Amino acid sequence: MTIGVLALQGDFDAHKKRLEELGAEVVLVRKPEQLDAIDGLIIPGGESSTFLRLLGEQGFQRLADFVRTKPTFGTCAGAIMLAAEVQNPPQRGLGVLDITVLRNAYGRQNDSTILTLPTKLGDAPLEQVYIRAPRIERTGPGVEVLAEREGHPVLVRQGSTMAATFHPELSDDTRVHAEFLKLVKNGKK
Ligand code: GLN
Repeated sequence: MTIGVLALQGDFDAHKKRLEELGAEVVLVRKPEQLDAIDGLIIPGGESSTFLRLLGEQGFQRLADFVRTKPTFGTCAGAIMLAAEVQNPPQRGLGVLDITVLRNAYGRQNDSTILTLPTKLGDAPLEQVYIRAPRIERTGPGVEVLAEREGHPVLVRQGSTMAATFHPELSDDTRVHAEFLKLVKNGKK
């Protein structure tokens, strides 16, 4: 099982490390053709508008084809990339997750914070690192909410697509990545 981490920009190395701790083989994806050789993909945090710019039209289409057919996990900017609708300001999303996200939703004062909150991934609460995080404002009927912060979903799953508005790669707890690897093992859409 080979997992790709999109490595255009952002904190892809931390994801690589977490996945390797869990025994996965990891490749850093910098070229569209590398998508053909992986079983699942993580789109990391960073700046979603920069991702869009670096991908260009062709890269965006290749990525859109991939996420429609293979398991994908987006964190923070990666979650924004996967969304059906993006606001503040509006920008295009890959549309594979039926959610509406508001970018940079927590304002300058509390834009970065670490919270420890309950999730559906076991009894122990989970440390969640938020950095200029988006907020999920709407989830469609097919979207399962695995964790919430102040009444808004922060970890969601739809089919074999997962998204977190926080950064699980920056905490030692590997449960979120383990959950994604389960999705990849269960495989095909
Ligand atoms: N603020 C970034 C965006 O809008 C996301 C921040 C992050 O990924 N840590 O894309």
